[in-house]
Amino acid sequence: MRGINHNCSNCEEKISSFLDGAFTPAQEQQFKNSVSTCPRCAEKLEKEKSFKVFLKKKMPITCASRDLLSNIRSQIHLDNFRK
Ligand SMILES: [Zn+2]
Repeated sequence: MRGINHNCSNCEEKISSFLDGAFTPAQEQQFKNSVSTCPRCAEKLEKEKSFKVFLKKKMPITCASRDLLSNIRSQIHLDNFRK
């Protein structure tokens, strides 16, 4: 897809803001377009989304420290690599 400047690390940084609803509708659209060009980021977005739902069910988000979150995240990613 030409015309869209996709940068994976850039995109990954935006995923949590997107899921937090921190984007304007225009930004959201831009982000979705960008993600749709990259299977890798699309998959990561789906993972983060279900991860967030999982956390919300398990515990209030305020109880989770940043360390714990990145810990769980890296474990999820390790699981992915094993498949
Ligand atoms: Zn990407």
